[in-house]
Amino acid sequence: MDATEFRKFGKAAVDYLADYLENLRDRPVLPSVEPGYLQNLIPGDAPEQPEKWQDILVDIERVIMPGVTHWHSPHFHAYYPTANSYPGIVGEMLSAGIGCIGFSWITSPACTELEVAMMDWLGKLIQLPREFLNCSDGPGGGVIQGSASEATLVGLLAAKERSVRRIQKLHPDWDEGTIKAKLVAYSSDQSNSSVEKAGLLGSMPMRLLPTDEKCRLRGATLEQAIKSDRERGLIPCYVVATLGTTGTCAFDCLEELGPICNKEELWLHVDAAYAGSAFICPEFRHLMAGVNYADSYNFNPHKWMLVNFDCSAMWVKDSQYLIEAFSVDRIYLKHQHQGRTPDYRHWQIPLGRRFRSIKLWMVLRLYGAEGLQQHIRRQVGLAREFEALLRGDSRFEIVTDISMGLVCFRLKGADSLTKNLHERLMESKKIYIIAATFRDKHILRFVVCSRITESRDIAFAWEEIRSQAEQVLHSDAPVHFPKTHNHVKFNGLRKNCPNNELKVNGNTNGQG
Ligand SMILES: *Cc1c(COP(=O)(O)O)cnc(C)c1O
Repeated sequence: MDATEFRKFGKAAVDYLADYLENLRDRPVLPSVEPGYLQNLIPGDAPEQPEKWQDILVDIERVIMPGVTHWHSPHFHAYYPTANSYPGIVGEMLSAGIGCIGFSWITSPACTELEVAMMDWLGKLIQLPREFLNCSDGPGGGVIQGSASEATLVGLLAAKERSVRRIQKLHPDWDEGTIKAKLVAYSSDQSNSSVEKAGLLGSMPMRLLPTDEKCRLRGATLEQAIKSDRERGLIPCYVVATLGTTGTCAFDCLEELGPICNKEELWLHVDAAYAGSAFICPEFRHLMAGVNYADSYNFNPHKWMLVNFDCSAMWVKDSQYLIEAFSVDRIYLKHQHQGRTPDYRHWQIPLGRRFRSIKLWMVLRLYGAEGLQQHIRRQVGLAREFEALLRGDSRFEIVTDISMGLVCFRLKGADSLTKNLHERLMESKKIYIIAATFRDKHILRFVVCSRITESRDIAFAWEEIRSQAEQVLHSDAPVHFPKTHNHVKFNGLRKNCPNNELKVNGNTNGQG
C-alpha cells in the first residue's frame, strides 16, 4: 500500500467509524451469532495475492459487525464503561502512526516527556497530594500502565522490594528467599479478581477480608488480620483498597486503613479503576479522603474518562522501589541523560511501551476539565433517572446505595423472579445488563456506560425491564431458555462463579 492508497483507506475508515458511532443506537447491542460463527465467513488460509482495501472494509460489516457486542451502544448497561471518544480515537491513530517504542528517554524523548506532563495534568485535575506528582521534585511520579490489573501487580512487586529491604536491616542473617516466603497481602472480598491474580502472579498470599454491610473494608478487620498473621510469624506487606468496587461501587474506608498501613509499614495501593474518573469533579472528591496515606494510586481513564483503552493512570510516592524491583540495567539500554527523566521501562512489566499519553493529551485538550466534568455529571444524573423510575414501581427493590453510574436492583420476592427477568432480557437483546449475587440474593447491575446515552435510552431500558418483568410476574409457568445465551463471559470470571455472574458480599470472593 502506498501513501496515496493509505490516505484513501484511512479516510474511508474514519468515515466508516463516524457512521458506526453516530448510528449505534440502531444496532442490537448484543450479537445473535453462535460460537464458531466467524470460521464460515472467512477462508481457512491467508490470501496468496494482496487484496483491495475496499473489499476488506466491506468485510468489516459482513464478518466483524455481526459478532460485535457494542460496548458504546446507549443500550449497553453491563460491567462498567469502556471509554471511547473522537479525540481518543484520533490519539490512538497518531500514536500508531508515529509508532515509537518509548522504553527510555532517548528512544523517543517526547514519549517520556509528554507522559510526565500528562500524569501531572491529570494528578492536579483530581487534586492528588503533590508528593505523587512528577513535578514535586521528590521521588514521586506518575506513569501510564496498560491496565489496573498491571498497576496492582506493579504495586505488589514494589511493596515486596520495600519489605525485603526493611526486614533485611532488622535481620541481616535472613536471606531474601526466607523473607519473601513470609510476606502476605490483604484486600477485601469485594476487590476485583485482578487483585487476587496479582497475589498469584507475585507469589504472595492475598487475604480477601470480609466487608461491612456496605461492602466496605474496615480498619478493624485489617488490624485483626495483620495481628493474627504476625502471631504466625508472617510479614504483612501489601494492602489493596478499592474506591468503587466492581460489584456495587463501594468505597473502602481509606481513612481507617491508611493510618494502619503507615504505622505497620504496609504498602497501601488504591484501586479506583472505575470511580476514580469522578474525582475530576470537586463534589465527589470527599470519596478519596485518605489518599494521602497511600503509597500508590491508580484509576482508569480508559473506563470513565473518555480515553480509549488502554490507559491506566498510576502514581507512586516513591518510584525508587519500582525502579529497584524492576531494574536489570543491561549496558545497551544506558544513555547519557539517565537519571534526569524517568526511564519508564523500570516502572512497568514489559520493556516496550506505546505512546499512550497522546490520546490522554487529545482528550484533556479537546474536552477540557469542564467537558469531562460534564460527562461524569451527566452519567451520574442518568443513573439517578433510572433510580427514580425503579422507585416508582413497588415490584422492584434497590439493593445497595446508588453509587456513581451504577444501580443494583432486583424484583422483590424469590430469586427465581429476578433470574427469570434476566434470562428474558438476555433473550430479547434490547439492552445488556448483567446479573450478580449480593448476600446470596440474585440482583441485576444497571450501569450507565455509553458516552451517547441520553434520557430516552434510560426510558427505553426501563420500558424493556418493566415489560419483561410484567411477563415474568404474570406467567404461570416459569420460562426456560436455553443456556447458551451467556457466551459473553465476564472479564476475569472466577471458576466458582458459573453463569456469567458476579458474586458480591457472599461467602466467596467471586466477582469481576
Ligand atoms: C475494571 C476494574 C479493574 C480491572 O481493570 P483493568 O484495567 O481491566 O485491569 C480493577 N479494579 C476495579 C475496581 C475495576 O472496576
